[in-house]
Amino acid sequence: MRTIVICVLVFTAVFKVSAQKPNLQVAITFDDLPSTGAAPPDVTRAQIIDSLLATLKAEKLPPIYGFINAHTLEGMPSGPAILRAWTDSGNLLGSHTYSHPDLESISAADFEDNILKNETALKIYAGKTDWHYFRYPFLHEGETLEKRQAIQFYLKEHGYKTAEVSLDFEDYLWNDPYARCVTKNQMAKVDALHDSYLAAADQFIDIYRSLSSRLYGHDIRYVLLLHVTAFNAKMLPDLIALLRERGFAFISLQDALRDPAYSIDPTIGYPGGGAIEETLAAARKLAFPPAVKPNEWLDNTCK
Ligand SMILES: [Zn+2]
Repeated sequence: MRTIVICVLVFTAVFKVSAQKPNLQVAITFDDLPSTGAAPPDVTRAQIIDSLLATLKAEKLPPIYGFINAHTLEGMPSGPAILRAWTDSGNLLGSHTYSHPDLESISAADFEDNILKNETALKIYAGKTDWHYFRYPFLHEGETLEKRQAIQFYLKEHGYKTAEVSLDFEDYLWNDPYARCVTKNQMAKVDALHDSYLAAADQFIDIYRSLSSRLYGHDIRYVLLLHVTAFNAKMLPDLIALLRERGFAFISLQDALRDPAYSIDPTIGYPGGGAIEETLAAARKLAFPPAVKPNEWLDNTCK
């Protein structure tokens, strides 16, 4: 009898946990290939990509889009090998412009030239795969409606699909403090960065789920923005574990973008840009949910 009671309790507990988990879907994407941000002194660019690729493989994630700035290749001798390693492991490349300009600081015509200039490298490194996916630098899609629509028209004319973002916690903010802390051997601070990074990811999952619910009435298929940084190479296994824990399964970018949410155009100029929910919320005059990000602490950590 005692055994039976325990079994029932265990069964109930397991059932409760699985019943509480939502069925969410997310496509992970990486910006700023071949690599960006500071790195600890003994960490090479090749090691960062090898670590990321090993995690993607171990976690059996679908092919992941990495968005390149070919300009970076000019100052990074390991850049070409990094892009080859990325595609050799079955992952995909898309465009993030040639030199990562801010659309809010240049004309639509110059921005279009910058998109075109990135294609030389994409033709070399992406081969026959579909590299016509475009990610706006800084998620700035145009501070005026006129500019936004000019670039949208250009992208459409040139066969690009926009790789919109719907889940973002500004992962890159943790990278430079991490590099500083490792350099100064302040490993307790590295642990604090680890916890703070996951707490921010967790918080922004709630924020975007709540926005999605208000805007679309349900969870959409999310697209998560990450960057190719040294800290992400370290954090990716724990970030994936957090996403699984929160109920996410991993899908391809192509699958995610089939969600009808991505075809709703907010049709506003939006200075400062952001994820699609943020832009649509602005268009509908809905407030962005309160968020706390430790920017000042990150700026000062290991300074
Ligand atoms: Zn970028």
